[in-house]
Amino acid sequence: MSELRQDPTTREWVIIATERRRRPHEFENVNSGKKGSYENIPEYSEDCPFCPGNEYLSPNEIKSFRRYGTFPNSTGWWVRVVPNKFPALSAASGIAQGVSAVKNVAMDFTGYFFPRATEIFRTKPGVGAHEVVVDTSKHNESIPSFSDKQIQELFLMYKDRYLDLRNDPRFKYIIIFKNSGVNAGTSIIHSHSQIIATPVIPLTLRNNIQQARYYFDEVGRCIFCDMIQAEIVDGRRIILQTTDFIVFHPFASMNPFETWIMPLSHEPCFANEDTNKIKALGVIVKKVISGMKGALNDPDYNFVFNNPPIADEKEEYYHWSLRIIPRISMKAGFEIGTGMSINTAVPEETAEFMRGFLKE
Ligand SMILES: [Zn+2]
Ligand SMILES: [Zn+2]
Repeated sequence: MSELRQDPTTREWVIIATERRRRPHEFENVNSGKKGSYENIPEYSEDCPFCPGNEYLSPNEIKSFRRYGTFPNSTGWWVRVVPNKFPALSAASGIAQGVSAVKNVAMDFTGYFFPRATEIFRTKPGVGAHEVVVDTSKHNESIPSFSDKQIQELFLMYKDRYLDLRNDPRFKYIIIFKNSGVNAGTSIIHSHSQIIATPVIPLTLRNNIQQARYYFDEVGRCIFCDMIQAEIVDGRRIILQTTDFIVFHPFASMNPFETWIMPLSHEPCFANEDTNKIKALGVIVKKVISGMKGALNDPDYNFVFNNPPIADEKEEYYHWSLRIIPRISMKAGFEIGTGMSINTAVPEETAEFMRGFLKE
């Protein structure tokens, strides 16, 4: 089982992922991988753990959307969720282990025991969930080539899994994200996304929440709703607007071409949105990623959902978003040393450029 460790100087938690750990020499060639491309690869690959027919290569499935009459862990699915084989966090809990295996234990407010190495270095067992969503049954399909139906089903699966995981009282936060390409953190070409449920609330999110709460207390409105209004009034950073969603490059964008998708009507958590909105969201994400493919020569990218902690899903102060970040720049010394970003692109200009690639 992995371990959570807290930096006593920042209070940020870090997951020390023992199950995925690499020995020091294995980091040597980490940047030598080639860029993944979906051209000239077959629809099926016999050693791919995510291809239909190879279901036995992954742990037993958690959920799938599949043809009526077909069985779990066999072919016939179009979206499939399995546990991550090398989880950063796992649901096998550390309760028993916490009490018996260590002398110096403490109990957190959810009732779980965790070892305390010393007063200053705090740890917790890595209890959580780490799931892989296989986005499609086709080895050579990436989001721009998905049918609308496929992307809609994928996003409905995200909601489905969120609503299931949120019931586990040990989990405080659920993040859904996708890494596409080597520069975005994945080497498996078969399109997939991931869901991680954590037993702590990440510090970045805590800061975010604090600002949003503060604004809500002071002004009495959602800071994100006000930001959306300001973006609409300005208009220069918007790349797409529909009945339900706004897509824009944020005013203080941290990365070139970083794109935010937000619902126009106030809603704290994406999983509270109805089926039609979830489907519409999927189609917008496909559109934006296809646009990026044209504008930026098929970049590697990440997308991440920003939701509130599970306990705050109905609180008025927060407003969910989905953020897409093409991996076209690298964090360097200044960013690492300060946590501040240097964005070498101007959001007003990148938004205008992107609009040209989002035509029907
Ligand atoms: Zn595959
Ligand atoms: Zn709002």
